[in-house]
Amino acid sequence: MDSTTNTLMQRYELGRLLGQGTFGKVYYARSSITNQSVAIKVIDKDKVIRTGQCERIKREVTIMRLVRHPYIIQLLEIMATKSKIYFVMEYAKGGELFDLVAKGKLKEDDAHKYFRQLVKAVDFCHSRGVYHRDIKPENLLLDENEDLKVSDFGLSALAESKRKDGLLHTTCGTPSYVAPEVIRRKGYDGTKADIWSCGVVLFVLLAGYLPFHDSNLIEMYRKISKGEFTCPSWFPNNVRRLLCKMLDPDPENRATVAKIRESSWFRKGPNSRQKKLEVENKAITNPADQSHESDNVVAESNQEPVSAAAAASINAFDIICLSSGFNLSGFFEDSFRRREARFTSRQPAQVIISRLEEIAKRLKMKIKKKAAGLLKLEGVQEGRKGNLSLDAEIFEITPFFHLVEVKKSNGDTMEYQEIMDKDIRPALKDIVWVWQGENQQEQSQQLAQQIPENNQQ
Ligand code: ATP
Ligand code: MG
Repeated sequence: MDSTTNTLMQRYELGRLLGQGTFGKVYYARSSITNQSVAIKVIDKDKVIRTGQCERIKREVTIMRLVRHPYIIQLLEIMATKSKIYFVMEYAKGGELFDLVAKGKLKEDDAHKYFRQLVKAVDFCHSRGVYHRDIKPENLLLDENEDLKVSDFGLSALAESKRKDGLLHTTCGTPSYVAPEVIRRKGYDGTKADIWSCGVVLFVLLAGYLPFHDSNLIEMYRKISKGEFTCPSWFPNNVRRLLCKMLDPDPENRATVAKIRESSWFRKGPNSRQKKLEVENKAITNPADQSHESDNVVAESNQEPVSAAAAASINAFDIICLSSGFNLSGFFEDSFRRREARFTSRQPAQVIISRLEEIAKRLKMKIKKKAAGLLKLEGVQEGRKGNLSLDAEIFEITPFFHLVEVKKSNGDTMEYQEIMDKDIRPALKDIVWVWQGENQQEQSQQLAQQIPENNQQ
């Protein structure tokens, strides 16, 4: 940060403090280039490094940049200095949802709206292999239209390091929203843990207080691990049924998003709204809902995940990126781009490995070393600067979502680029979800070109 002016990297004018989290502060800021309001989360690298989560956070952030949804705070840009990481995010003007609850329980209509938006956001991210693992009031924000904006999605490594580090853990207060299996610190499934937290949120919205609460922390843990809670008298039966399924301490038995969506309360909401909703359903669907449904269809059919809404929001994102024509992050510097490439894939690791092996065979390259998730491909012919060698490393985000890095480990950079462009990229085409970094702009332009067509639908 410049010391004379309140400007960050000559691109953002920093404004007031919006809040303080475990890892640092969040400031309001305005882009000097586009004038857009943003929120900037400033994270102390040391705190993250202490728990050994740096690499994971970088990977998560790479993924997070791909996740765009109307109910999720979008990560616009990441910058880094020696000691700090800056997450530039969409700004949620309406503040925290729970400032509303602090004034008393919500009307069933309103709780229904926010809960549906939350489940849609969570479902969308899960379909992309991204988990939250820290759903709690501070991360549920509202935009200027009073629609939900979930923040910190994709930063589950941060949530993890908070839990690993006893010190950080105590600063983040009581784990009222955390699933029992997470508290037990055994391996857990991010999908199920998020659903538990959504259940707690639903309870709080309708009741105005927490389902698991006790002045004695041990007693509170006990209640959480038993799933022991009591619904107030005004909770309708269909909400009670839904909550029992979501707040099941056994993650195996806990409701899935599909089950939540099937529940009568989720579908119809409060009786007073039923008629209105039916009318709405016959009329035009909410564009946000539409984007979600179409995205899901795409996710399930495993095709190119480009829906009208995704394209539209990618376009908005890129207007900002292109107009400031810059490094998207301190992590992906230009010099690296020429020697390495990254892509995400929705295929299992074995499929990716087999494909890389086929490519090596066809290019008459030797597969020299094969550790877990690492393939070394070595050319047999000597090139300008010795044999060209590539390392392909596969990082698991989930069993069906991987980040793959292909790096030149030896040989001439020009030869590397040639073989990548002519052979490797085309041969990987059908297993690549998105190429990261250098193709981003090209890709977004292609996406942007599709917008008029999509909008006509
Ligand atoms: P944790 O450190 O566990 O994530 P937290 O969510 O409270 O806790 P931060 O994510 O650092 O911490 O956020 C701090 C506060 O800043 C939030 O409580 C919220 O009120 C505000 N805030 C965060 N992101 C935004 C945003 N995009 N727009 C507006 N306000 C935000
Ligand atoms: Mg937060």
